[in-house]
Amino acid sequence: MAETPPYGLVDDAALAIDGETIVFAGPRAQAPTADRTLDLGGRLVTPGLIDPHTHLIYGGNRALEWEQRLLGVGYAEIARAGGGILATVRATRAAGYERLVESAQLRLATLCAHGVTTIEVKSGYGLDVETEIRMLRIARDLGERLPIDVHPTFLGAHAVPPEFTADPDAYVDLVCDEMLPPIAAEKLADAVDAFCETIAFTPAQIERIFTRAAEFGLPVKLHADQLSDGGGAELAARFGALSADHLEYTSTAGVAALARAGTVAVVLPGAYYFLREQRPPPIAALRAAKVPIAIATDCNPGTAPLVSPLLALNFACTLLGFSPEQALRAMTCEAARALGLRHDRGTLEPGKLADFAVWNVEQPAELAYALGANPCHAVYKRGRRAEPTQH
Ligand SMILES: [Zn+2]
Repeated sequence: MAETPPYGLVDDAALAIDGETIVFAGPRAQAPTADRTLDLGGRLVTPGLIDPHTHLIYGGNRALEWEQRLLGVGYAEIARAGGGILATVRATRAAGYERLVESAQLRLATLCAHGVTTIEVKSGYGLDVETEIRMLRIARDLGERLPIDVHPTFLGAHAVPPEFTADPDAYVDLVCDEMLPPIAAEKLADAVDAFCETIAFTPAQIERIFTRAAEFGLPVKLHADQLSDGGGAELAARFGALSADHLEYTSTAGVAALARAGTVAVVLPGAYYFLREQRPPPIAALRAAKVPIAIATDCNPGTAPLVSPLLALNFACTLLGFSPEQALRAMTCEAARALGLRHDRGTLEPGKLADFAVWNVEQPAELAYALGANPCHAVYKRGRRAEPTQH
């Protein structure tokens, strides 16, 4: 049997599309006849990129705080001055619907222009019933405004809001009893996420949220082991999570648990880079255990203000030891798996959605190689040319 060529690349290839769906992908000589053809000039075609972890919607930004940190101001001092995640919570609560849409739409248009056709967008900067629901509505709305599929995730358990500092368990009650029921009833989220960390929520608190999510039939995912090994990977695996994300401090037992559960590891090289972290996630152990690995931008104002999926690929290669081929798989088919969408996207094959990007490159490695470039020639979403509005 012939070996699969690198990247599964087919020279002189053709795609045949019927409506939103691919009906043929392979050598041009074998393609079916079509009513209408389009010559892409011999350019590279890949599946549309999939960004499976973002915090795209937020008020304000944290550039000043970043500048202060570079000038040597300590994190504790910045937090005392009202900086950090709670600064974004304040700005997000204060911003009206339209202002939040506008700023998120700019970021989303940039991601679309870099070949992204499906994205996950989390809430988590409202931390009250009204603003969490507003963020999720905006996520759904963005998917209507731009040629991209947006999959909203409810991340009420992102941080303990200032009103509940003295009683975090009461905030978990609010998430379970006041936020989740209307969100589930209105189908505002496709999944539920939480931040498992000493500075955020304990495994016991998250178990309550995940149990409630399961009652509503919502899949879960988890920010796990980013700053310490809190048993996050094991917790995610116990609930059959779609993905466990970050994983810098995940133990050998955590890796084994993910493998058994079939949970996808989502690594976030943009945050690793931006925070100048020293401890990479256990990529070799994850690969050895055959845990599928996806990459995301983690686009957020505090730790990864990243709107280039191609830079995320580069960081994964230069900082985390991915090959360019592994990186591209991680932002296409494995990213689809991380969102539970492997059945209809992430590869170019018959039966999948006709979501693809056309690139001005000679070889696929160039996608991860050219720092800051955007070689994207065109994007097709569900069989139609996508024209994201660039502002
Ligand atoms: Zn995140």
